[in-house]
Amino acid sequence: MTSRHLILRLGHCGTPIQWLTPACAAILVVKSQVVWSLGDNTLTLRGGRNSNGQRSQLALPTIMATQGAARTQGFSPALNNALLFRRDRFICLYCGKRFAAGELSRDHIMPRARGGADTWENVVTACKRCNHHKACRTPEEARMPLLAVPYKPNIFEFTVLANHRILANQMAFLSRGLSERFRTS
Ligand SMILES: [Zn+2]
Repeated sequence: MTSRHLILRLGHCGTPIQWLTPACAAILVVKSQVVWSLGDNTLTLRGGRNSNGQRSQLALPTIMATQGAARTQGFSPALNNALLFRRDRFICLYCGKRFAAGELSRDHIMPRARGGADTWENVVTACKRCNHHKACRTPEEARMPLLAVPYKPNIFEFTVLANHRILANQMAFLSRGLSERFRTS
């Protein structure tokens, strides 16, 4: 684990809350707000030197549960292209090819101009060419069948999508909350 890794913060029941930088996690440890933790790979955060010239050190777990419950009812992750492209694995859901983020776009299945909502369930990753070709039509009208059904990520899935550098034990913990559609999409 390096300082670029983040610490997974959970509610006391084990539901993900957020990713924390080691510095933010250290504050929770010092304030005794951690109720339980997991992870053998602990990160050692080095502080300043004391009057004896010794550096202070604080060992941090990679997963920590804090007081209070996570918000699970009505959880609705904000929609943005970075998370959308990651949900769809950078694959255009019309032609099935993989692209770099710069070549992708957010396609509204029911076009916005026709009342389609800007929601996780109505958007898919599309390459610019397919998006342009589909234009203001539904997939049926354009005869461009979708390769997968779009969905709103649950809190575990959102947590996975929100971090590029997940440690193996963090991923193992989060995998319990991943749906089949997320694993196979
Ligand atoms: Zn395409």
